[in-house]
Amino acid sequence: MFSSFPIRRRLRIDDFEIGRPLGKGKFGNVYLARLQENHFLVALKVLFKSQIEKEGLEHQLRREIEIQAHLQHPNILRLYNYFHDSRRVYLILEYAPRGELYKELQKSHRLDEQRTATVRIMEELADALIYCHEKKVIHRDIKPENLLLGLRGEVKIADFGWSVHTLSLRRKTMCGTLDYLPPEMIEGRTYDERVDLWCIGVLCYELLVGNPPFESPSHTETYRRILKVDVRFPSSMPSGAQDLISKLLRYQPFERLALAQVLEHPWVQAHSQRVLPPSAQMAS
Ligand code: AMP
Repeated sequence: MFSSFPIRRRLRIDDFEIGRPLGKGKFGNVYLARLQENHFLVALKVLFKSQIEKEGLEHQLRREIEIQAHLQHPNILRLYNYFHDSRRVYLILEYAPRGELYKELQKSHRLDEQRTATVRIMEELADALIYCHEKKVIHRDIKPENLLLGLRGEVKIADFGWSVHTLSLRRKTMCGTLDYLPPEMIEGRTYDERVDLWCIGVLCYELLVGNPPFESPSHTETYRRILKVDVRFPSSMPSGAQDLISKLLRYQPFERLALAQVLEHPWVQAHSQRVLPPSAQMAS
């Protein structure tokens, strides 16, 4: 649980200097903090036990901690460790200096910048999700609010609150955010890691257009449009992006483009700025 985190003993709140608030979540606040003894910067998420108990979320929090603590990937926010006192649970998280992708989205970008940024996010997410799926973890809740940005603008998947360890089980719980829900979850069918493929399709659309594809005035209408896969592409959307999105937004999970193919998709390749390590360049 500790690798690359400079302290191995059990920590207490007195071990930290608390800095500015980074944000407010439903169950508590997140603060910039640093370890007294070596000034290592972290984001400290403070959750109130009373609120978690009131909502009956102890199990979900345990699962979130358990899953996130075992994932180590440059595009997944690290959970270094946790501790608690009588009233609070503290999660010691990697600090994501450039904050929420959501905020970045609201700033207007030039179209070409937006395309390269979208491609980069898709590549990083595909990489991170390949890693998660190999470990039998499904995120289930990929959406802009759950994506943070590192120092170099790299994406960091945060919030594993809804993620689940599949252990080859087919899951049936309904969760996630309405606009990003895949048809099989709406219909209460069993589902697997291919829900994440649907979600990155929705995300790619939102990054390029500014709103998610099935957004509607009512929940019923959103559900109806998702089930019909009623996607409408603005004429400004490049045909390559349309092709990629329509290959991810398929009603049938088995028809969705696999993550490795997302990385190889011609539109992604055309806008990719990825510098592959020499070994990978030689192999391709
Ligand atoms: P959450 O409770 O996880 O929804 O976090 C609330 C807000 O705090 C987020 O929307 C972010 O703006 C901010 N935040 C959470 N975690 C971090 C982090 N590791 N680094 C930087 N900002 C964060």
